[in-house]
Amino acid sequence: KKIIITIDGYSSCGKSTLAKQLARELDYVYIDSGAMYRAITLYFIQNRVDWANSAAVAEALTNIQLEFEYDELHHEQASMYLNGENVEPLIRDMVVADKVSEVAAIREVREFAVAQQQQMGEKKGIVMDGRDIGTTVFPHAELKIFMTADTAIRVERRFRELYAKNKNITLQEVKENLELRDYIDSNREISPLRKAADAIILDNSQLSMDEQLQLALQWVED
Ligand code: C5P
Repeated sequence: KKIIITIDGYSSCGKSTLAKQLARELDYVYIDSGAMYRAITLYFIQNRVDWANSAAVAEALTNIQLEFEYDELHHEQASMYLNGENVEPLIRDMVVADKVSEVAAIREVREFAVAQQQQMGEKKGIVMDGRDIGTTVFPHAELKIFMTADTAIRVERRFRELYAKNKNITLQEVKENLELRDYIDSNREISPLRKAADAIILDNSQLSMDEQLQLALQWVED
């Protein structure tokens, strides 16, 4: 029987790594909800949308179409498309990372994204990662995982990822961005980052990728 698996947690805990592994093992579809908030943020920046103005936000959202492109098996979500354009490298940029939590705190933006996420869940057999998936998007999901990892480890991992693409990035910059996003995500008014009461905590500071996968697969079976 196919189920819905939610993975929430702080920035750079390895949520997407685990989500992709699970999707591959179980033949599920992986959905990166953060990519949707990043694409909306990119649109706002590119089109100079004044996101302090809710009428401007509502208007801008009517012009945004988000789509995921998948590989054949749907496990590795290949790319995020914004109005027909592949924005995958752009949405991972620091310019977007610096603003995304601010944009994701806006009520209209969340309503827009959550409605689409819930639609994708109508078909079971998905793994979705984010911040409010177990609490708000799928409160009745069969398996909820809340991931954590030591801050130093998270900063190091994200730094390595970003440094591979951009040698100008500094560890301090990455640390500040993670701390800022975690702070805004945890303290915003609408569906702040929380562990759902029925979520299982997975601290992967000391786990290998295979160990964490085996743990999660065991929970799927239980
Ligand atoms: O997961 P990722 O780090 O790409 O998410 C980028 C940002 O999008 C998060 O820092 C958060 O502000 C926002 N987000 C959210 N709710 C989600 C997923 C992401 O608010 N479900």
